[in-house]
Amino acid sequence: MAGIQIKNIVKKYGDGFPAVNDVSIDIADGEFVILVGPSGCGKSTLLRMIVGLEDITSGDMMIGDKRVNDLAPRDRNLAMVFQNYALYPHLTVYENIAFPLRLAGASDSEVDAKVKEASKTLELDEHLQRKPGNLSGGQRQRVAMGRAIVRDADAFLFDEPLSNLDAKLRGQMRSEIARLQKKLGITTVYVTHDQTEAMTLGDRVAVLKRGVLQQLASPRELYENP
Ligand code: ADP
Ligand code: ADP
Repeated sequence: MAGIQIKNIVKKYGDGFPAVNDVSIDIADGEFVILVGPSGCGKSTLLRMIVGLEDITSGDMMIGDKRVNDLAPRDRNLAMVFQNYALYPHLTVYENIAFPLRLAGASDSEVDAKVKEASKTLELDEHLQRKPGNLSGGQRQRVAMGRAIVRDADAFLFDEPLSNLDAKLRGQMRSEIARLQKKLGITTVYVTHDQTEAMTLGDRVAVLKRGVLQQLASPRELYENP
């Protein structure tokens, strides 16, 4: 695991107004930070620069003590959890979680040990032989997180993972994500435009507006000083 340091990061598309304008956020190892703001404020662009899916115009992106500006996404050791969880429908839960280990050429016994450990932590051990189509939304989310933890990713990155769900399920998943993040103690960055998510999920909230970091504080501090 590792913290993430975002140092004076700027992103310009063409010669327009910067989409991200000199943003600095120091995310501690194990911390859960929410990036929030209206559509177009630059939050996805910032997340994509952390993952390596977008070039950085200037500034330094650090994961642990390593500068990653020029590293390809696969060399950053981060786990992006997508909105649709990107599970393989024809594979069992076991094989979905095992997938990155198989890709990396792990032995069967290593795969088995890691999948068992992850599925225990995530309370999926009863469901290993099921297919994603037969799982609840919360279980699918946990399978996606399982895939990330078997790889020992340094951090989880979420891009509006709950925006397609109805209000009730969204509430349940929110508490599930918060609970698992604390249990795993893994550094997490979570993008949302939803104020409720921003105020209930994380340790700190980074509020962006037109590419500029407006506020960086705990939900309590933001609540008391909006
Ligand atoms: P958010 O995720 O907060 O909705 P984005 O990071 O997607 O915001 O976008 C921030 C700004 O950058 C917006 O003005 C958007 O139009 C612009 N932008 C995003 N992606 C591109 C791109 N590929 N090319 C040009 N402009 C872009
Ligand atoms: P099965 O559960 O298919 O009968 P065994 O009981 O022989 O398999 O277990 C062999 C090992 O493989 C066990 O440690 C088991 O947990 C693990 N395992 C379970 N399901 C799978 C799977 N889908 N692919 C690979 N290994 C699996």
